[in-house]
Amino acid sequence: RAKSAGGNRFEFSDAEADARAITRHGLTTALPAALERGEFFIEYQPLVHLGDGRVHGAEALVRWSHPQHGVLGPDHFIPLAEHTGLIVPLGRWVLQEAVRQARSWHEQAGPDGFAPLRINVNLSPTQLHHPGLVADTVDVLERSGLPPGALCLEVTESGLIGADEDLLKPLRQLAEMGVDIALDDFGTGYSNLANLRRLPVSVLKLDRSFTQGMQQHPADPFDRKIVEGIVSLAHSLELAVTVEGVETGVQAEQLRELGCDTAQGWYYARPGPPDRLHRLSLADAV
Ligand code: C2E
Ligand code: MG
Ligand code: MG
Ligand code: MG
Repeated sequence: RAKSAGGNRFEFSDAEADARAITRHGLTTALPAALERGEFFIEYQPLVHLGDGRVHGAEALVRWSHPQHGVLGPDHFIPLAEHTGLIVPLGRWVLQEAVRQARSWHEQAGPDGFAPLRINVNLSPTQLHHPGLVADTVDVLERSGLPPGALCLEVTESGLIGADEDLLKPLRQLAEMGVDIALDDFGTGYSNLANLRRLPVSVLKLDRSFTQGMQQHPADPFDRKIVEGIVSLAHSLELAVTVEGVETGVQAEQLRELGCDTAQGWYYARPGPPDRLHRLSLADAV
């Protein structure tokens, strides 16, 4: 659904624009040293089964603990890291750290009696184009001992627009190894639905805008039809459907009724430190 334009449109003064440019420049030049100094950290947000509410896995979301600006979310620095190419070593660090964390959850799984958790890691377009992607991923998995089937890489629909075979090949190789590929923010891009068949993906992550349409009960009939259609198409292609941005029980219930498989959002938990996720999954094991 298109965001309504206009209304409270405002412009930055030159001074504000300058300040923003300076901040952006400062952040950009600080990125490499921040990576070396270990200023990045990861928060984990649970993904739950809509059927029984159990924790299924977690998405790794990177943050920057900046010495002057405090904790910065990815929207403040991922685009800058993309632009400078630092996203490649940063993304490799996130993958390594998240996989190590998932492996450690697996090691704790047995005696505690909760199922091994899966880990989702975001990839940006530059990482997709980087020739080392498959080798790096294989290396990280092998060194950690995490089974490839416990890893899901999230790529956005827009990152795959117009993707040719050369770009899809590394994803295909990873999928053949058992790594899941999810199409993130699905429904916001302009991808051809028929194109889905060609992509090596096994999960669709429905964008938050669809979840927002489920706020009222009953939801707008048109919104319901759209979600119903996407779910039925996804399932007929043997893709699982995850929904993002679930903030209320009303949304969760309607999305469950519409056949979505897993969900993520503040209704269940905000992104947080890894030990909290462990406690959440222990709680639902009893
Ligand atoms: P995303 O992959 O679509 O991640 C979901 C975003 O929605 C996260 O924002 C999460 O905190 C937020 N969210 C979760 N539940 C709710 C909810 O119920 N309501 C609302 N309003 N928001 C919710 P975050 O952490 O700020 O991340 C933003 C984006 O940054 C991510 O969107 C992803 O595209 C990117 N990102 C995060 N970590 C990484 C990373 O390690 N590498 C790359 N390349 N991109 C990353
Ligand atoms: Mg994501
Ligand atoms: Mg998403
Ligand atoms: Mg999103």
